[in-house]
Amino acid sequence: MVEKDRSAKDKGTGVPAGDNPGAWKAVVESEGEDRELRIKELVSQMTLEEKVDQMHGDTTVLDMVIMVVRYNLRPYTSGENKRLGIPASKFTDGPRGVALNNSTCFPVAMARGATWDKELQERVGSAMGIESRSQGANLYGGVCINLPRHPGWGRSQETFGDDPCLLGEMGAATIRGLQKHLMACAKHFACNSVEESRFHVDVQVDERTLREIYLPHFRRCVKEGVATIMSAYNKVNGQYCAHNSNLLRDILKGDWGFQGYVISDWVFGTRDTVKAAKGGLDVEMPNARHFGKRLRKAVLKGAVSEDIIDDAVTRVLRQKARFAKIGDTSLYSEDKVACKDHTELALEVARKGIVLLKNDDGILPLDRDQIVRLAVIGRLADLANLGDFGSSQVRPPYTISPLQGIKDRAGASIEVTYDSGKDFALARQAASAADAVVMIVGLAGKDEGEAMPGPMKVGGDREDLSLRQSDLELIEAISQEKDNLVVVLEGGSAITIEEWKDKAQAILMAWYPGMEGGNAIADILFGEVNPSGKLPIIFPENTGQLPHFDKKAKSIEYGYYHGYRLFDKESLQPAFPFGFGLSYTRYAYDNLRLSDKEIEKDGLLEAKLEVTNRGEVAGDEIVQLYIGCSGSKVDRPLKELKDFTRIHLEPGETKTVSLKVKAEDLAYYDVDSGDWVVEEIEYTAYAGPSSRQEDLSLADTFKING
Ligand code: BGC
Repeated sequence: MVEKDRSAKDKGTGVPAGDNPGAWKAVVESEGEDRELRIKELVSQMTLEEKVDQMHGDTTVLDMVIMVVRYNLRPYTSGENKRLGIPASKFTDGPRGVALNNSTCFPVAMARGATWDKELQERVGSAMGIESRSQGANLYGGVCINLPRHPGWGRSQETFGDDPCLLGEMGAATIRGLQKHLMACAKHFACNSVEESRFHVDVQVDERTLREIYLPHFRRCVKEGVATIMSAYNKVNGQYCAHNSNLLRDILKGDWGFQGYVISDWVFGTRDTVKAAKGGLDVEMPNARHFGKRLRKAVLKGAVSEDIIDDAVTRVLRQKARFAKIGDTSLYSEDKVACKDHTELALEVARKGIVLLKNDDGILPLDRDQIVRLAVIGRLADLANLGDFGSSQVRPPYTISPLQGIKDRAGASIEVTYDSGKDFALARQAASAADAVVMIVGLAGKDEGEAMPGPMKVGGDREDLSLRQSDLELIEAISQEKDNLVVVLEGGSAITIEEWKDKAQAILMAWYPGMEGGNAIADILFGEVNPSGKLPIIFPENTGQLPHFDKKAKSIEYGYYHGYRLFDKESLQPAFPFGFGLSYTRYAYDNLRLSDKEIEKDGLLEAKLEVTNRGEVAGDEIVQLYIGCSGSKVDRPLKELKDFTRIHLEPGETKTVSLKVKAEDLAYYDVDSGDWVVEEIEYTAYAGPSSRQEDLSLADTFKING
């Protein structure tokens, strides 16, 4: 208390009581309640200036200039206090790897979502944690879990899919991996899914839609213990997210009991000192525009109470202390950055995330004995196509392009030729001279991604989800030479294929497959690896089937329905459903049995079933559990994903799969009472290989009772 008074008396100029680096040590060495007390004690010893200094990034003008020339060259620091021995937070970006120097570039998050593999994602998180620490960072800001309400959102590639359950589980797995080494940051809270107007768009969303569709994955990450949350640039219901007390104070810190701290998105994320402080923002990044001096003045004027400051500082110190001794320092060294273990992991992820969308007459895998000449066609074939050029850009030491991978894996008996497709006549010649043709088409960093302010137009949203006109024309031209076309698509989200799908015999969705992507594509084309990825986002037939999207919107309404929920409700046929993906083998699903016909409101339902590999080759299958209900008081989706797992099956092998859902996860949010309501009604559990209703013939009902 004495110190508090002093800081006020000093008019916030801060006259610290002398060096005491031991104070921080005592905090770090303590645990539980004791640590909370010591943090309180430490906060009470800090001057107002020192406290406010914990609440903003320290990026200097020079750093800002460097940022413009080479983004993410160094971690963004905040809150070092030498007098008290408090270390800085050192933030680095993601999510496709560590944005510093030459780190491992993993497949983009959407590709990782397509693996539906939590254990794998945890390993990826851990590798990213090791590479971050090895390069001096202690806070990884690449757990992007925004839900792309429309797949044209430019940053869809940074997130794991368009379903809250999948997003939450994959986000949580990443956090588990990362937080073995450092603090993780989940972003962008919330409803950040229009890129080009992200700095001002006002997302209008009712409380039920917000809680049930746009927030559950953030809540899941909070349950996993995520250290920090980044607020989004946009507004939600009229308030900028960094000022939004409903989001930050009522829901995040109140209802969910979040113990960590909230950082703003960069530069334009904070707009007003008092509104941000009162709204629940703890740290302005990357420097003090609205916090810093202005915040100190606001406290001295009484416009912001010092309790708010103390709470923010407590949150920051709590997480810094929690992570002060985390990790095994012997693991962190420069040689871990893009080391073999991690590049092999990038290859494993790419192999597991590529989705086989179409394979007429089993044209894939390519039969090496039948092919003497293989033509690879398309401008993306010879390109290191890793994703956009925004904050998530990673610069790996090398990238295997699809062409390189195919050449390396084709074997001595196959001659691989390449044509970029710029000149259609040449491309046609190449196709007609070959026994098989693989086209690599799709999107690149210019077409979609984070829209960075500046003169160069890169990234942004896609209101039209089709391929570039030149790709469409190239497919048309090549299809006149060959009727056994294999098309490999690259991109970060859904692409519409209606105009040309009949011209291709096989279609693979490779996403932005990371630095080892070319090898993974080749492994799948030649059958070294059996494709197993499944779509984490719906692929519509056309954009008319999707919710309204306007990339220049000043205000946009987010209704309850999107993705498969919308398609189910309106009986629309997608090109490919959520959860869909083919394999070189066939799986049979049998014998669904539920643990109970009735469960309690605090109970858990287990669904067991057998899955058999009925084909000739081994493979991984992703098994999905959806739950629907009948007789609800409110309008509800036909079904919603509630659990999933990935299993490996040898030819002929059968495995019993167990999927689970808690009754509380079937609740709806009652706006009037502000409570989650678990209804005592009948529910249906569906288990199967995708969200398509015909794939969910294994179904059984159960009830929840009081
Ligand atoms: C992005 C964030 C990123 C931050 C720092 C912002 O433009 O929206 O996702 O973490 O920059 O690079």
